[in-house]
Amino acid sequence: MRYSSAGPDGVPDALFDLDAVTAPTPAGRTGGSGGREPGRGPDHRFPFRDSPAARRLLPVRSVYAEPAAAGSPRGRQILARFPDAELIEVDSHWRIPGLHGNEGNVDRWVRVKGETLVLGVKKTLTTRPNGRSADWIAPGPSNGCAMACAYCYVPRRKGYANPITVFTNIDGIIAHLARHVARLGPKREPNQCDETAWVYDIGENGDCSVDALICDNTADLVRAFSR
Ligand code: SF4
Repeated sequence: MRYSSAGPDGVPDALFDLDAVTAPTPAGRTGGSGGREPGRGPDHRFPFRDSPAARRLLPVRSVYAEPAAAGSPRGRQILARFPDAELIEVDSHWRIPGLHGNEGNVDRWVRVKGETLVLGVKKTLTTRPNGRSADWIAPGPSNGCAMACAYCYVPRRKGYANPITVFTNIDGIIAHLARHVARLGPKREPNQCDETAWVYDIGENGDCSVDALICDNTADLVRAFSR
């Protein structure tokens, strides 16, 4: 069964049909034996993000990038994944002319989220106390996402568009967190977050799962916390 997501003009206006979620992996893209081929993960599979289904989920056509972000190792990896996308250099990932503050973008709210990507460098790295769902709010590796929750507060500072902004200085974010963890030491008293473990929220203003369709920021954070 196909679940159409076409808008009134017949043009798809959702990120993907539900069929995309269950689209089969193309023959020859999984399994394998012997040494690990370039692009394959440690389990010898190609990442889902390189599948045609993932390309349909996130058909990036424009990338707005701060020069430092575009030139960083993570930025270059991301740009290599979207070779056909138009690269537009911007001074800042905030208040991008034509994107943020453009009232006309409201009608294309979801489409902008799938077709537009922003790359920036996160300048302020702070970990804030929380105490409710997490002990600490870590500096997130992104803000914005591919969804459209009505209650979302992330777009408030952007205006009329809230595409995914990926921060490319993931090494700096992880180094900051490593210092924070080392300073804390073990948790001495149980609380509602966890009895023994410090809990960090790593995706306060974004969606780590969609970030994983773009790059290894989420994987790098998971690896860092597992050490
Ligand atoms: S950032 Fe979170 S709350 Fe906002 S639209 Fe995305 S998933 Fe929803």
